[in-house]
Amino acid sequence: MSFEKLNIIEPILRALKAEGYTKPTPIQEQAIPIVLERKDLLACAQTGTGKTAAFAVPILQLLYGSEPPLKGRKPIKALILTPTRELALQIGASFAAYGKNAGLRHTVIYGGVPQNAQVDALKRGVDILIATPGRLLDLMSQKFVLLRHIQLFVLDEADRMLDMGFINDVNKIIEELPVQEKRQTLFFSATMPPEIQKLSNTILKDPVRVAVTPVSSTVDAIRQALYYVEKSNKKSLLTHLLKDKSIVSALVFTRTKHGADKVVKDLHKVGVHAEAIHGNKSQNQRQRALNNFKEKKTRVLVATDIAARGIDVDELSHVINYELPNIPETYVHRIGRTGRAGLSGVALSFCDHEEKEYLKDIHKLISRPIPVVEDHPFPISQFAHEQHKETGRSSGASNKPRSGTFNRGGGKKKFSNHRGSRFSKAN
Ligand code: AMP
Repeated sequence: MSFEKLNIIEPILRALKAEGYTKPTPIQEQAIPIVLERKDLLACAQTGTGKTAAFAVPILQLLYGSEPPLKGRKPIKALILTPTRELALQIGASFAAYGKNAGLRHTVIYGGVPQNAQVDALKRGVDILIATPGRLLDLMSQKFVLLRHIQLFVLDEADRMLDMGFINDVNKIIEELPVQEKRQTLFFSATMPPEIQKLSNTILKDPVRVAVTPVSSTVDAIRQALYYVEKSNKKSLLTHLLKDKSIVSALVFTRTKHGADKVVKDLHKVGVHAEAIHGNKSQNQRQRALNNFKEKKTRVLVATDIAARGIDVDELSHVINYELPNIPETYVHRIGRTGRAGLSGVALSFCDHEEKEYLKDIHKLISRPIPVVEDHPFPISQFAHEQHKETGRSSGASNKPRSGTFNRGGGKKKFSNHRGSRFSKAN
């Protein structure tokens, strides 16, 4: 399949080529024709699948060449609602890239910064508006935004909107849009809990459903490894692993903001430059940390889940779960930050005694155990063996761990796999 076969128009094709996209990702292949046929879409896809282009490309195409109004300000024709500033900025950057030959105007509005520049951009007139809910409502109430002419509405990361408590705001915004029949709605969510399904039923009309790589298979492309380690030894293990120069950039996850700051402090003590990104940091601090990481000025970025949600870093080589998440889907979201759009990636996870239950839930979700690295300087072998027994019983596999080789960036490490199958990385 090629973008040409999806009937993408030449100005957009040229822009996609300039981005280095040679063929559509599965979500793009499925979603683009549906959107171009002006149908509503219910898409189950997470960040990392290429979902932004799956809606941005056809929106640009549908709006391409639309006549400017004879008088007055350009009406906003497409609204993309997304939960975080980082996501909003990234979506804005995607519209800029894919739409660079399309002659359409877009702008991004989000909270935490003064509104003046955003208001000025709105006054100049935009075709496409990318917004987070709070700031959008704010500017709507001040009459800087009118949604009466919206033809295309995208609700991005709907499940995250729910998690972050934005659903009421989202509903208020939807009330101001043209009715269902008079707009086209595209609904994206990584997961579909009942509340999200209910919301989708109320805002979509006869949607076509598409789903790409259910969470459990998304992880196939990513090489995963598990380190059983005492909580008190985690910082030493992290320092040890970071000696490996093949770890070009690492996104390290903690469950709490305090935990993220602590990891940064510990790394600084041993001379590793790291920065943290979480909700207690200002918008500017977060953006600066993210830019430094993207530009490879900072090798290690430590993040909490909410803050990391919008992080889109091409060529991120490693994700390190310093603390396992208590929600198993979050594991899949985290490791999906690496291995983007067909690139290979490595996800290393630390597990201490208290995190055993979280690990069980993760194994259940991804339907397989994560290969264990036993040969590291800070093992808790008794615990690991207990785990092997447990997993062996539930999966019917042998209780006895076998050894193999986990080859990470040239350095060979011994590991044992619960199922006894060989786990090796093709570099
Ligand atoms: P998204 O899921 O939209 O956050 O996209 C994930 C990453 O994949 C982004 O860095 C995009 O630039 C990249 N990407 C999206 N579509 C393609 C494509 N067709 N070919 C190569 N990379 C892509």
